Amino acid sequence: MRTPVVAGNWKMHGSRAENARLIEALAAEFPDEPRASCVVCPPFVYLQDVARLLRDADLGVELGAQDVCADTHGAYTGEVSAAMLKDVGCGYVIVGHSERRLLYREDDKLVARKFAAAQGRAVTPILCIGEQLTERESGRTESVVARQLDAVLELSGAEAFASALIAYEPCWAIGTGRNATPEQAQEVHAFVRGRIAARNAKIAAETRILYGGSVKAGNAAELFAMPDVDGGLIGGASLKADEFLAILAAAGRG
Ligand code: PEP
Repeated sequence: MRTPVVAGNWKMHGSRAENARLIEALAAEFPDEPRASCVVCPPFVYLQDVARLLRDADLGVELGAQDVCADTHGAYTGEVSAAMLKDVGCGYVIVGHSERRLLYREDDKLVARKFAAAQGRAVTPILCIGEQLTERESGRTESVVARQLDAVLELSGAEAFASALIAYEPCWAIGTGRNATPEQAQEVHAFVRGRIAARNAKIAAETRILYGGSVKAGNAAELFAMPDVDGGLIGGASLKADEFLAILAAAGRG
């Protein structure tokens, strides 16, 4: 039984006051016994603040970061290490988000090193993979996600997915309002699970694979109903308490 996960990627949004209002609004309607695990990923500078807000609200919502340095410490101006994330209360970190792959030219090897660095400090990586529109249109979706996944499998092994999440996020669906259909998501999720299963069937059966890309209250239930979709990584809709709570409620049904 895979407990679903709903993770909010706040991206570069928020302020101390806005974050406090968002947590307050979440707390006001948060379910007593959510059927999914819930994580929020604020920008680095707000992590400690949000950690305190979450502790005070006592919702069981966990904290994640949006990125991590592949190296452990030293002369890396502007970077944040996995040990630092752990130190301020992060249990999770997103690695390889498509915005970082595309805007900051992070390649598969670097993402795999970030994944390993996070695990080295017991911070659970949320590995984002996904194809661009041109890649989908030219029939290369599977080869792209296989390449992205294989970089991690080769460096860390299939066993590493015992303590990691995967988020399949087709780039063309992120922030566009155009989500993958449930069938499109299921097809890729099954492919990803199968690729891990080829190395370790037990780990593959237990790995949570989230879908991300324009998930909202109105489409979450049908996406999460797919057998290999184990929750979602939510961008825009995670900034609105009512939307995020409705998405959380849609996870773990059925
Ligand atoms: C994301 O940033 O990971 C994401 C899925 O964004 P959105 O939900 O806004 O498409």
